[in-house]
Amino acid sequence: MSVEQIVSVIHALPMAVLLIGRDERVRAANPCVDAILGTDLVGKHYITALRQPAVIAAIGETQRSGAAQVVRYNGRSGPKDTVYKVSVAAADGDILLTFEDQTAAEEAGQMRRDFVANVSHELRTPLTALLGFIETLTGAARDDPAARDRFLGIMAHEANRMTRLVDDLMSLSRVEEDERVRPREHVDLAALLSSVIKGLEPQASAAGVTVTLDLMTSDEIVPGDAGQLVQVFTNLVENAIKYGASGGEVSVSLMPREMHQRLRREAVQVSVADRGDGIPEHHIARLTERFYRVDNHRSREVGGTGLGLAIVKHIINRHRGRLLIESAEGEGTKVSVFLPVSAVS
Ligand code: ADP
Repeated sequence: MSVEQIVSVIHALPMAVLLIGRDERVRAANPCVDAILGTDLVGKHYITALRQPAVIAAIGETQRSGAAQVVRYNGRSGPKDTVYKVSVAAADGDILLTFEDQTAAEEAGQMRRDFVANVSHELRTPLTALLGFIETLTGAARDDPAARDRFLGIMAHEANRMTRLVDDLMSLSRVEEDERVRPREHVDLAALLSSVIKGLEPQASAAGVTVTLDLMTSDEIVPGDAGQLVQVFTNLVENAIKYGASGGEVSVSLMPREMHQRLRREAVQVSVADRGDGIPEHHIARLTERFYRVDNHRSREVGGTGLGLAIVKHIINRHRGRLLIESAEGEGTKVSVFLPVSAVS
């Protein structure tokens, strides 16, 4: 095959392909190669073009033995590390290199490993506490009714914590599963918010917080999943009560539909605002990550699992809406949800 024919064939391929001639110089490279190795490689010696020892060794091996090799190529794209699987094969005296992008797969693998490590850690802490108390109750505190009552109380607290974690994990996995399915119900937001607030009254009064509902419109019906939207607003109001209790007030407001630039469609806004301590700026972008907490100790103390906002974010994505967290230290936090008023195609 002439170089022109090879070039036109490899240009049609969707992955990076590079051909090294018998003279050990690059004979041809397609445009996908540019992003990985840079431009103007044709004519250069392959050692200069590729530079990574593992790849260079694999080419040498294929030249010697004719056997195909597979190696890893660690690259960089802007600020991001990239990983490619490079197949090196002999092709009629030339050597053909193909690059398969493994970056997304590696990232997904890493996320899975981190997630399992996080869940294990979250479960291990209450389990260790439970096992410790069981040991004490069967040993030293066996005949001490006062200690027994106190320890059983703590054990119940730890067991509840594990139950909440397992519930939230199941909820997260259900929500992730549904994310691509459009919600089909029509939801009356004013009624839904009133019922959420009513349900949280005992929690609010126990924390010394008054929750108010400000309906600037009362007949907003949006396409949605009522059960999931209850979950969203319960979570946001609960967070405002838990973390903003020092402000004594939480206000929930429903604003009428308006054109929303980012969503490029009309949307209603529901905001949950507290007057608590607020959240330092650098934490805000990460709050919707699983298990991310500003203050681990405080979250555990108030019964948090660190999964609430991750669940909220997934539900809002399913509704093709937007979540906005604004906070000023010492002044409070306002979390707004924008929900499209018409079904998004
Ligand atoms: P958690 O189960 O820990 O409450 P979330 O995902 O709901 O988890 O929230 C993540 C973290 O965001 C919380 O641990 C808390 O640090 C912070 N946070 C959420 N809402 C508020 C709020 N209204 N005021 C201050 N901090 C908040």
